[in-house]
Amino acid sequence: MVSYKDLGLVNTREMFAKAVKGGYAIPAFNFNNMEQLQAIIIAAAETKSPVILQVSKGARNYANQTLLRYMAEGAVAYAKELGWERPQIVLHLDHGDSFELCKSCVDMGFSSVMIDGSALPYEENVALTKKVVEYAHKYDVTVEAELGVLAGVEDEVSAEESHYTKPEEVVDFVSKTGCDSLAISIGTSHGAYKFKPEQCTRDPKTGKLVPPPLAFDVLEGVEKQLPGFPIVLHGSSSVPQEYVDIINSNGGKLPDAVGIPEEQLRKAAKSAVCKINIDSDSRLAMTAAVRRVFNEKPGEFDPRKYLGPARDEMKKLYSEKIKNVLGSDGKAE
Ligand SMILES: [Zn+2]
Repeated sequence: MVSYKDLGLVNTREMFAKAVKGGYAIPAFNFNNMEQLQAIIIAAAETKSPVILQVSKGARNYANQTLLRYMAEGAVAYAKELGWERPQIVLHLDHGDSFELCKSCVDMGFSSVMIDGSALPYEENVALTKKVVEYAHKYDVTVEAELGVLAGVEDEVSAEESHYTKPEEVVDFVSKTGCDSLAISIGTSHGAYKFKPEQCTRDPKTGKLVPPPLAFDVLEGVEKQLPGFPIVLHGSSSVPQEYVDIINSNGGKLPDAVGIPEEQLRKAAKSAVCKINIDSDSRLAMTAAVRRVFNEKPGEFDPRKYLGPARDEMKKLYSEKIKNVLGSDGKAE
């Protein structure tokens, strides 16, 4: 049993309470390699922003759970070395799909876990989430749950009300499960193709796709039911056009990739939304930087010469998100 407290990590309880009150959101950046982790920590340390290091089940398998535990511990030490005296860093499991996986993460030094029972019938989601909360809370690990179904990149994206979180269910769910935060579905989705072209309109000037707006009425309904309760948005990358263009002009092929406009995320960050998940944007930043080096310098074969620029580009992206979208800079002095 490894306690996250011994690794210098924190859980999400206090930072979420402050974020809800302060009208900003904490960045949750996914990582699975050293360069991503360096970029996240440098950006958070420079901006003094609390930060959630997020690891999916797949990323945990990719990176190895033992190595991850030391990477998280190293991240805290590195943050201090960068001059961040009291780093507020969370190690969080993204989309845990079983009690066993969540338990294993709690036992290996995670300070927060998500149990995603959103695909299950309501009562089964309640039972599974409750079981995870009971275990995690014994070790002061916080738990994120999910209600409502988010569309994925391969799924049929539907604007039907039934896919959104039902505000009338949230009080019952939170009181029965005891979860610490709740991911809701208001129209964000996973991946770099969040909407099909036919769901979007075209900007007549640029010809670019403009996605449909998020369902802020659903968010307001949830906030009314659960005043001050921490809400989480998944699938909230913006898919910056500049990265898509760099990728496509350097041999890549990402036609019609489309994300969530940043002004909508800024609006969400000011509400009870206190955690915003961003993964695809850093993948795009990394891929754009690597593709550019490969295209412009075909003779290059030192990984530091392409992963270094990729790291710089990701760091720039993370800092920009913290300062201009989430508003979490200076909140962890
Ligand atoms: Zn997600």
